[in-house]
Amino acid sequence: MKKVIVVGAGVIGASIAFELQSRGCSVLLLDRDAPGMGASYGNMASIAVTEFMPISRPTTWLKLPGWLLDAQGPIRLRPGYLPKLTPWLYRFLLAGLPGKVRQLEQAGSVLCNRVYEDLLPFVQKVGAESMLSKKGCISLYAGDAEYAADKEHIDLIRVFGFDCPDLDRAELDQLEPGLSKEITRGVLFPQNRFLSDPHHYVQRIVECLTATGGQVQQGEVLSLHLQGGKVAGVQTASGILEADDVVLCCGAFTGRLSRTAGEPIPLETERGYHTQIMQPGIALEHSLIWPAKAFMVTPTAGGIRVGGTVELAGLDAAPDYRRAKVLVGRAQSALPGLQAKQTSEWMGHRPALPDTIPLISPSARHQGLFYATGHGHLGLTYSATTARLMADLITGQKPPIDMTPYRINRFQD
Ligand SMILES: Cc1cc2nc3c(=O)[nH]c(=O)nc-3n(C[C@H](O)[C@H](O)[C@H](O)COP(=O)(O)OP(=O)(O)OC[C@H]3O[C@@H](n4cnc5c(N)ncnc54)[C@H](O)[C@@H]3O)c2cc1C
Repeated sequence: MKKVIVVGAGVIGASIAFELQSRGCSVLLLDRDAPGMGASYGNMASIAVTEFMPISRPTTWLKLPGWLLDAQGPIRLRPGYLPKLTPWLYRFLLAGLPGKVRQLEQAGSVLCNRVYEDLLPFVQKVGAESMLSKKGCISLYAGDAEYAADKEHIDLIRVFGFDCPDLDRAELDQLEPGLSKEITRGVLFPQNRFLSDPHHYVQRIVECLTATGGQVQQGEVLSLHLQGGKVAGVQTASGILEADDVVLCCGAFTGRLSRTAGEPIPLETERGYHTQIMQPGIALEHSLIWPAKAFMVTPTAGGIRVGGTVELAGLDAAPDYRRAKVLVGRAQSALPGLQAKQTSEWMGHRPALPDTIPLISPSARHQGLFYATGHGHLGLTYSATTARLMADLITGQKPPIDMTPYRINRFQD
């Protein structure tokens, strides 16, 4: 029986571990923390299959200077971090060149188009069907100008075959009666369903892993244990743990371990924030997104979660919770009845590659080493698909899609 160590018990690592255990491997899931306490803890819970496009694109570039100058804007770059970020930013700009953007849209849409094919059976296997909403997401617009500013994005989603009808005010009222009168039109994304609690979802997967014989252990991996060009396990503070194969899925921290294997990856953190509002005084059936104000609202974790924003400040800087607080006022402008008396703030690290496409790949240097990271804004969305593809790679089955766009050595192209 193949022994596999999966490093990192976020939604990606937990899903891979369970999938491998289900396919007859003997799996050890290792995390320095309790499972699901990284980015997978506090995300916006959306299965956002319509958001397959790369973030770097000419329309983003045009908005970027204005956003960066606005301290409360959707993207914040801490000036002290700029020198460290520059190589990543350069790759980010290259990823936005028109020809490249088309390729990346294709690579993202191939994954997004198969999300439910993988997610629905996975959710059923772990007994989490009741955690997945039946309703999707509504995009909100205060007037035709806001809609026109988002039209390129909506058209692209439609070109790739996702059905997303326009909504007038009467239709919005029927779907979500509590919206501000300022909102005059919307677009419904019925396929962007959401989970009731992304942290509980990871815990549920881990329970299923242990129930089927998999092991879970707490411990920090310091480096890879290499023998003759092959991975033979991992080095932890308390000693070496041996394995036939090792999968690195440490989210935004994966780059630190890949460097110990002599395989650097251009992985950054796009730090994101949420405010969790308990007893919000309103009930929502859909998640909401207001593109002009760059925030999302999801009915989740027993209350309402407001989140979004990107902060480029690295892995070690302290959180700036003003970025979470500002989102609450924006949410209240969409939902006048929203009461925000009982709130808590959170920050998490999205693992971000400059081309927005995840890394789901064997190592180019060491036999037995695999990577699953860089899922950016879509880690929850892509989790079951990544687990399926990674399990195919490790167990020697042919993946159902061409894996070339997700390979590690694409950064040397
Ligand atoms: C505000 C916000 C909103 C988001 N909204 C959505 C959304 O609506 N939909 C969506 O699909 N995605 C969303 N995302 C993105 C999603 O949360 C991430 O892509 C996903 O959680 C990444 O999962 P992961 O398992 O790769 O990483 P993580 O969940 O960060 O897990 C990595 C794990 O590795 C462990 N680790 C790190 N280093 C080591 C080491 N050396 N040894 C042992 N363990 C280690 C960590 O402790 C951690 O548990 C959002 C993210 C944020 C921040």
